[in-house]
Amino acid sequence: MYDVITDKSSESDAPSGCGPLLSAGSDDAKPLRQQIFEHVRAAGSATRTDVTRALGISAGSATTLTADLIAAGLLREVAGLPREPGRGRPAVALAVVPEARYVIGIKLSDETHSAVLTDFAGHMVADATLPTPPARKSLDALMEEVDVLMDLVLKDVGKALADVAAVGIGMSGIVDNDTGTVPWSPLLSDRDTAIERAFVDRFGIPLHVDNDANVLTLAELWFGAGRTMSDFAVVTIEHGVGMGLVLDNRLFRGSRGMGLELGHTKVQLDGALCRCGQRGCLEAYLADYALAREAATALHRNPRNLQSPNAMLDALFSQAKAGNEAARTIFRRAGRYLSIGLSNVIQLFDPGLIILSGERMQYDYLYADEVLAEMQKLTLSDGRTPCRIETHAWGDLVWARGATALALAAVTDTALGGIRG
Ligand SMILES: [Zn+2]
Repeated sequence: MYDVITDKSSESDAPSGCGPLLSAGSDDAKPLRQQIFEHVRAAGSATRTDVTRALGISAGSATTLTADLIAAGLLREVAGLPREPGRGRPAVALAVVPEARYVIGIKLSDETHSAVLTDFAGHMVADATLPTPPARKSLDALMEEVDVLMDLVLKDVGKALADVAAVGIGMSGIVDNDTGTVPWSPLLSDRDTAIERAFVDRFGIPLHVDNDANVLTLAELWFGAGRTMSDFAVVTIEHGVGMGLVLDNRLFRGSRGMGLELGHTKVQLDGALCRCGQRGCLEAYLADYALAREAATALHRNPRNLQSPNAMLDALFSQAKAGNEAARTIFRRAGRYLSIGLSNVIQLFDPGLIILSGERMQYDYLYADEVLAEMQKLTLSDGRTPCRIETHAWGDLVWARGATALALAAVTDTALGGIRG
């Protein structure tokens, strides 16, 4: 019926190289040399013959354009796979020059910020984390923390800010990728913050910013299971319920450059109160604060004396595992709401795959067989192959890695003369 894969190391099964393996229809607008570069980077390494075949170009064009890319210091020749025994010298392949560009990806959060330094081939070179107080901050205070974090990630490998071609930031809230502004975020005390301008003024490096569900989706598209899929959705359950959608190999941000709010689609008229102020949102039944709210009652905790939602959820999960029926019921009920949300995603977008992704995928009651069976039952399935569901429990650097993809895509466009997208 359906296929559930729990993969603790999503990256290990992916082919070598990074970036989407399928090309988007709109890629035709990219210069041919950028298409060649991206093909080589996605494959890890490729011979000129591979390039000729994959892009449907002449051998002459492949030779001329790869010579340009080598002269520009972006590609280099490496030993390819040996030909059949006795058939002459091994083929010469091309690979990205990793040190041609470096980018930093950052995830800002209300507990711990994280950063990853990545080279132009997509390899993770260094990472760092910085604990932060959970209070809302001014943009200046947040930039101060970003400064410290970037120093940390560069210091260990002897790099400086001058070596960094661009930075990507993922953060929760309503984030406008097009304009580089943040209309609202739980991390910031002000609304309508011009984060990109503040960053560029301070550090003199281009910044690309997006919401955390989108950078998580980019992590799957560039480094995970999404690399081989042209249409897929990523659903993540953390503080809220986030969703990212890839259509025709590119992240769909809607008409306003922001993102999709699966968590605030309504699943109940006049239902539970959501933190957005409205009632009946999916998130009000599924997010960690919603479960913690019910956990306080089930575990007979004094509501005046509440632990953090995280600690409360962990306690609830242990109780459920130990056989506490009230605790189990809470997870089961949340799972049923999740099945409604997933079914709605399938009916609206018909994705080839839904990836349940993020750092907190350990509450397996939510992804139990009965949840997926319920999802299937709620979905019209006549003549339709059931949508595949995978669960990916990444480490806590996944968002920062996804943010490096934002920066890598932009730096690639700049370096190779394409258009941004
Ligand atoms: Zn809501």
